[in-house]
Amino acid sequence: MKTNGKRLWNSLMEMAKIGATEQGGNTRLALTDQDLAGRHLLIEWASELDFKVSYDAIGNLYLSKHGVHTDLAPIVMGSHLDTQPKGGRFDGIYGVLAGLEVLRCLHETQTLTHHPIELVVWMNEEGARFTPAMMGSGVFTNILNLDQVLKTTDKDGLSVESELIRTEQSGQIPLQRHFQAYYELHIEQGPVLEQNQKEIGVVTGGQAIIWLDVEVSGKAAHAGTTPMAMRHDPMLGTAEMMIALEKMVLQDFPEGLITFGEISIQNSSRNTIPAKTQWTIDLRHPEDTQIQNMQQQVLKLLQQIAAQRHLNATSQQHWHSPATYFDAGCVQTVQSTVEDLGFSSQRMVSGAGHDAINLAKHCPTTMIFVPCEGGLSHNEAEKITSLQAEQGADVLLNSILKFDQQYKLARAG
Ligand SMILES: [Zn+2]
Repeated sequence: MKTNGKRLWNSLMEMAKIGATEQGGNTRLALTDQDLAGRHLLIEWASELDFKVSYDAIGNLYLSKHGVHTDLAPIVMGSHLDTQPKGGRFDGIYGVLAGLEVLRCLHETQTLTHHPIELVVWMNEEGARFTPAMMGSGVFTNILNLDQVLKTTDKDGLSVESELIRTEQSGQIPLQRHFQAYYELHIEQGPVLEQNQKEIGVVTGGQAIIWLDVEVSGKAAHAGTTPMAMRHDPMLGTAEMMIALEKMVLQDFPEGLITFGEISIQNSSRNTIPAKTQWTIDLRHPEDTQIQNMQQQVLKLLQQIAAQRHLNATSQQHWHSPATYFDAGCVQTVQSTVEDLGFSSQRMVSGAGHDAINLAKHCPTTMIFVPCEGGLSHNEAEKITSLQAEQGADVLLNSILKFDQQYKLARAG
């Protein structure tokens, strides 16, 4: 079955008019009037068909199309309509509107699936107005506590709860209800598919992340009176550590990533050798065992270089998020659909956070990526072509039909 690429593209361009920015991007922060207008437009489109509209207590919005078996849990597609301030037209929105296109196709061809098919719009995926990010899916899957999240406020002191009431976006459909499967189609938000000239990314999971806080201390001293050989300079120690850590990751962990995003120098002054540096390490790897090995290597190198330079280095783990492994059965439906449709593809893990990472803890889950120009995202210039949009939507549609069909075979067998 084929989606209607032109209709999908028109919907994307219509949605992009809401909260449009001067440079061609969008600003629709969660539960603002712009976000509400986007949701209303989606509901208006859905009401032209015969879909049921419902909400849960945290403002996730569901459109559902019934299947043959009313006792079955739904196969769910989804993503988010909220954006970063001056974000792009496709991050999240594409997954939602491609889901709508799938529903439109099923409706127009009068295809009756075994399972109900649902489209979900997760509330506040971006975390730009209320933190943390992936809020709606976090509460749905019980990773975040509903009562706590409702009390969360934005920078003007408005709470999630009061904004849900104001915008009339909360409802009664139960949180944590069972999904037969969850599929999220998304732009890659990175440069890999474009670089490798692949049409579709078959996403197998999400990376493990470890955040470390590092402190390197030496001895403050006068920049003009202390001979080089007599210094205990934590800044130069830090520089050497960073370079050595980069080298170690490049050599030993080809799939690993290391980032030093923050650094501060205590009482910094241009003519003083500093006493102490404090900095952060962000480690990522697709495999849990490998990120542990990476962390051990990091700690070893920190101590080695500190000892050589007569410094003291300590590190503390600030946060750890294990790797996510998507459901092998769902991944396989995407892989074989891509082959059926003759698209080029590669397997990859998601570098960014997504609602699907939360959903993977709840039900069989996977993601589908399409390339985006220059890998650019969280940027007004974010761009995909209408052909790329259509190809991704075709993969979504046919993967879901395959999943639905497999269920019938399993039941008959
Ligand atoms: Zn997104």
